[in-house]
Amino acid sequence: MKIGFIGLGNMGAPMAANLAAAGHQVTGFDTAAGAPAGVTMAAGAEDAARDAELVITMLPSGAILRAVAGQVIPAMRPGAILCDCSTVDVDSARAVTDQARAAGLGALDAPVSGGIGGAQAGTLTFMVGGSVGDVARVQPLFDVMGQKTVHCGDSGAGQAAKICNNMILGVTMIATCEAFALADSLGLDRQKMFDVVSTSSGASWSMTTYCPAPGVGPVSPADHGYKPGFAAELMLKDLDLSQQAAGSTGADTPMGALARQLYSDFVQHEDGRGRDFSAMLPRFEARRS
Ligand code: NAD
Repeated sequence: MKIGFIGLGNMGAPMAANLAAAGHQVTGFDTAAGAPAGVTMAAGAEDAARDAELVITMLPSGAILRAVAGQVIPAMRPGAILCDCSTVDVDSARAVTDQARAAGLGALDAPVSGGIGGAQAGTLTFMVGGSVGDVARVQPLFDVMGQKTVHCGDSGAGQAAKICNNMILGVTMIATCEAFALADSLGLDRQKMFDVVSTSSGASWSMTTYCPAPGVGPVSPADHGYKPGFAAELMLKDLDLSQQAAGSTGADTPMGALARQLYSDFVQHEDGRGRDFSAMLPRFEARRS
């Protein structure tokens, strides 16, 4: 398939490289990043999109997605599909889909879970909003870049699932970190804490897969000085999106609101910037009274 890929950063580059390695003809564009393996670079976003049957975007924010969509939609050929894999607000996802459909294109919001490791290994989970027909056409490409695809509903449903998932993740990471800090102050060995909680009712992905305590559990950013991984700034972005969505829909999300506040303090007023989101554990350690 001829694929245009716009946004070749930490996530986009390995996703595009995997598509090229699977035999697809990938033309990329990025305002800063270089060419991933097997990808031909275009001079602009329109050039990457013009001949493509599928255009994938992997961009930092909803505002940038809207700007890029405004450039590429008029250049795309009729019947092609625009598939955004970035994490953005639901309103931007729906606005871009509406614009694409009005231009005779297919459109999907298909944010991912699995991080940079999952992007490299081709094991991402895609959560997808859009029509059954558009999902079916892109499914073979999702299968190259990932190992699971959930069709969540029509336009915006993928982003809705993503921000709900990451709100849970932010809350469970904070709960896991403050529980380790409490265990420390009770004199409980961290390995014993892991052994119990990882197989008990307090278990979550934050404990079992991404344990925030160095030297305990599977290898995680905690074992590399909290180098991201998944940066605290990105978690703050996702918690901002969930609070924005809660505000606009009237949903009551007090734990999500508190998690957003803690990550906001961590990134803006403490030492969280540039650190993995699991560095909440040293934050709690440092704040012991
Ligand atoms: P990144 O900053 O590494 O990559 C974004 C890329 O977009 C950069 O290379 C940038 O130069 C490019 N870009 C910016 N404006 C552009 C424009 N107008 N035209 C073309 N290219 C442009 O970010 P990332 O980590 O790859 O994340 C991308 C998206 O995926 C974000 O929405 C993020 O929330 C989401 N995400 C990231 C992770 C992760 O672990 N990093 C996991 C899941 C989802």
